[in-house]
Amino acid sequence: LLEIKDLHKSYDGESVLKGLSITVEKGEVLAIIGPSGSGKSTLLRCATGLETADSGAINYEGRFGLVFQNFNLFPHYSVLKNVCDAPLKVQKRDKADVKKEALALLQKMGLEDKANAYPCQLSGGQQQRVSIARALAMHPDILFFDEPTSALDPELTGEILKVIKDLAAEDMTMVIVTHEMNFARQVADQIIFMEEGVIRLAGTPEEIFTSKEQRIVDFIGKVS
Ligand code: ATP
Ligand code: MG
Repeated sequence: LLEIKDLHKSYDGESVLKGLSITVEKGEVLAIIGPSGSGKSTLLRCATGLETADSGAINYEGRFGLVFQNFNLFPHYSVLKNVCDAPLKVQKRDKADVKKEALALLQKMGLEDKANAYPCQLSGGQQQRVSIARALAMHPDILFFDEPTSALDPELTGEILKVIKDLAAEDMTMVIVTHEMNFARQVADQIIFMEEGVIRLAGTPEEIFTSKEQRIVDFIGKVS
């Protein structure tokens, strides 16, 4: 569903991605872990076209959605309008259909009573659930998450991780940058450990979490 080959990206002559290749099959969940500054966000931004890679190939089948760390909701739009906006404006879909579907998505996210609220009236966890509903409203074939819980208090983190786990159980294809090691271990089919713009280790959660490689043992020990 997604194939990235030999991706390179540098900023001001500083190489940030040094030849990354990843493949994600339909229904698969890929978790990306690694220290701050290793290039995880840059990889997602290049993969989703927010940033142009210097070289390499990115091949998709279908459409993607993106969920950011800081929710990025439109503050002057109601929750419902946030969810309906892109399907109406970008996809030019039927208004009544879009609204009906948006309300169903909000219900799925446990936010049916917040449709007319504004983002500033919601908790961080609720805002993040709105942004997940907004991404799903575009019918993505693959969803990218960049540290979806790192702006949230610990007690709100769990509710977002549950939503993502439910999506995984529905076979949603996802690429998730996360510092939540237990979550990555539970939800991912494959995990990539990135460091300094390269993939240091890729494997199943079992392989990553039982790795004897000192860098990985140290990293997992530090963030868990
Ligand atoms: P974190 O875990 O802290 O989010 P990350 O793995 O997502 O880190 P990136 O945000 O991808 O790391 O950044 C990788 C490197 O690229 C860093 O050294 C960063 O300073 C640099 N970088 C990222 N974006 C830009 C930019 N727009 N201009 C210049 N340098 C950038
Ligand atoms: Mg980042």
